[in-house]
Amino acid sequence: MGASTAHHLSNGPGRTLVLERFYENHPFGSSHGRTRILRTAYAEGVAYVPLVLRARRLWMRLGREAGEEIFRATGVLLAAPSGSKSLASAQSSARRYRLRHELLDPERAQERFPAFRFARDDAAFWDPGGGVLFPERAIRAYRRLAHARGVRFRWDSPVVRWRPLSGGRIVVSTATREYLAHSLVLSAGAWLPTLVVALRLPLEVEQQTVYWFRARDRTRGSYRTMPAFVWYGPQGGYHYGTPDVGDGVKIGGNEGQRVRNLARRPPPSSRELRSVQRFLTDRLPGLSSEPRRQVRCLYTNTTDKNFIVDFHPDHPNIVVVSACSGHGFKFASVMGELIAQGVRTGRLAPVLASFCLPKTR
Ligand SMILES: Cc1cc2nc3c(=O)[nH]c(=O)nc-3n(C[C@H](O)[C@H](O)[C@H](O)COP(=O)(O)OP(=O)(O)OC[C@H]3O[C@@H](n4cnc5c(N)ncnc54)[C@H](O)[C@@H]3O)c2cc1C
Repeated sequence: MGASTAHHLSNGPGRTLVLERFYENHPFGSSHGRTRILRTAYAEGVAYVPLVLRARRLWMRLGREAGEEIFRATGVLLAAPSGSKSLASAQSSARRYRLRHELLDPERAQERFPAFRFARDDAAFWDPGGGVLFPERAIRAYRRLAHARGVRFRWDSPVVRWRPLSGGRIVVSTATREYLAHSLVLSAGAWLPTLVVALRLPLEVEQQTVYWFRARDRTRGSYRTMPAFVWYGPQGGYHYGTPDVGDGVKIGGNEGQRVRNLARRPPPSSRELRSVQRFLTDRLPGLSSEPRRQVRCLYTNTTDKNFIVDFHPDHPNIVVVSACSGHGFKFASVMGELIAQGVRTGRLAPVLASFCLPKTR
């Protein structure tokens, strides 16, 4: 969110400085791990669809400007036991916005997507407009383009506090320096609550581990050209994955572990790995069940699993962003555009109205 916002601010007047706790594309936050899924039909709510369509256009534009592949149009397969609410919601969002989509019965799904194993009572939904994003490339591209237009980036520079001055300007402090700003965008991911303690944000940080698996049976089609997917289980759980873009098929689930102290994170749990391995045995039997690599990553969840993008209630020149509840990367391009617009105009676009700060005081 921060890199995209800086990029979009660099198109306008004023000077922009980015202060980053660690370094570019570090593995301690929420935006690493080589791939992210972009779905256009959105089970979480129809309100996301116009945002994701604009986001996809901006990702493609970023790819052209940077001369790199940022988005790959693999399509996204959603699968679930028939009668699933998630598939029904995805379908109603697709209908509402006239998105191309297909509903497939298990026989047709099996024929089209031989890497997967469908059961007799499964249903599948095909989102041909979706695909895979390459987050590290995107962040690097945003930084490179923004830097070329004068944005300064400071690594190893955690903001330790900020305070407003009487004229409305803000003093932002790191351990070694102070900066004077007209506006401030706080997009600190899982660390956001530490920068707005008084707001007592009801956020929960969850550690998720994702795994990469190699093919052991190559007769089930290519794992490089398979679509990205989300497979919903009968009890509200899900597994998701992206095709092999160089180091195997990446798979994750939603059985993460609560993180109470960001400085002391738990090791990956064997429960998470076992759940992913069961999923492989049932649904992707051509993959080896031993992961060749694993990475831990953070979800910052709001209670309703929506996002937060809002002005600070006491300071109209501070935007509080983040808490993307595990599905925010695909929107980072459009969020950056809208946040930059908000910083310039003092108003956030009406499409962000449902992402306002919870009333906690
Ligand atoms: C395993 C996993 C899979 C996911 N899959 C998808 C997916 O398929 N599709 C999708 O759309 N989304 C997905 N997401 C969610 C998405 O990746 C996140 O919502 C998004 O990347 C969050 O971005 P962010 O900028 O809010 O947080 P971050 O990327 O964590 O950025 C916050 C930055 O702030 C810095 N920071 C923190 N504190 C300070 C401070 N005091 N001073 C300076 N800097 C500070 C941090 O170091 C960090 O770099 C997934 C997330 C995970 C963990």
